Amino acid sequence: MTAVAVTRPASFEVVAPPPPGADTRARLGRLTLPHGVVETPQFMPVGTNATVKALDPDDLRTVGASIVLSNTYHLYLRPGHERIERLGGLHRFMAWDRPILTDSGGFQVVSLAASRTIDDDGATFRSHLDGSSHRLTPEKAIAIQEALGADIAVAFDHPVYPSSERAVVEDATERTHRWAERSLAAHRREDQALFGVIQGGLEPDLRERSTRFIAGLPFDGLNIGGLAGDETPAQRRAALDVVLPLLAGDPRPRYLMGLGSPADLLDAVDQGIDLFDSVLPSRVARTGQVWVPGGRLNLRNAAFLDDPEPIEDGCPCLACRQFSRAYVAHLFRARELLGYRLATCHNLTFTLDFMTRIRTALAAGNLPESLAELRLRAGRSIAGEAPGEPE
Ligand SMILES: [Zn+2]
Repeated sequence: MTAVAVTRPASFEVVAPPPPGADTRARLGRLTLPHGVVETPQFMPVGTNATVKALDPDDLRTVGASIVLSNTYHLYLRPGHERIERLGGLHRFMAWDRPILTDSGGFQVVSLAASRTIDDDGATFRSHLDGSSHRLTPEKAIAIQEALGADIAVAFDHPVYPSSERAVVEDATERTHRWAERSLAAHRREDQALFGVIQGGLEPDLRERSTRFIAGLPFDGLNIGGLAGDETPAQRRAALDVVLPLLAGDPRPRYLMGLGSPADLLDAVDQGIDLFDSVLPSRVARTGQVWVPGGRLNLRNAAFLDDPEPIEDGCPCLACRQFSRAYVAHLFRARELLGYRLATCHNLTFTLDFMTRIRTALAAGNLPESLAELRLRAGRSIAGEAPGEPE
């Protein structure tokens, strides 16, 4: 057992480490934060605008969420971090009393802003909402996150797509390192943890350099960025095979940003990742696609209009407890709001239950033996689907 005594507001305990010599780096852990305990490996639903689309906090508790992610970029632009601070902080604003993580804003600046220029001091960009001009620096990104008051803030980074050419990746990785030091120096809030971001794209030497650099700084946790984009699963596996062995003796939680399909989550847990987030389960739900053991159902398919069965037999979610596939399929055809809520509740229940199954196997010490069954339940990720698309 590895327990880490920290004076900072996050403590991470590895409850069940991978056995020595095992063919897996998966581990069971417990992350204690100001607003509660997060059992790992764990998935964080994404509440872009301080809401997981279509769900209220009771729904979130019912689907089993123990922590949610909210987006710094979105809340800074609308309704504004200072307004949220005046109204008592993000927890009170969205009426969620469990842990929250806010991201750095870097990914949205790069992928969503109408136009942007990045220099060594920070990023200037135009809002995707109204075209207004804004500037984010590491210090500003930290000040925004301190005003929001999440349990975990993230250092401002410069992400690039995994397939970017080497010179672009190298430049962004070096800048991320300088910004990591500035983010740490700027962070004051003692009731908020701060995680740092490892970049390096798909270049093994840059990944290694970035892992060593970021892990050498006194962050409370380590994010792995620049993946869950346009890379293949094999490329992602190769990048993680550079990072995770270097972190073997590191007691901090490891968070792979942007990954969300059950098959991908299982692979990454096996490689040693503790935390995940993605819009994927909720976004595909709003297109009428629901996850079931072995794959997905598309409720927009006419065949479901006469199907009296629940989406998934035995699923405890709001949808499956009382409604048929036929009813939810009807709601989608009629564009009724309840359809989005029910499908989102189901997909998040499926995802969070899947993580529970993984943790149960880890607690019993039999994840390697359970992999085949878990893979069968996860189905395959859909080829060509970019898991990291912003919402
Ligand atoms: Zn269900």
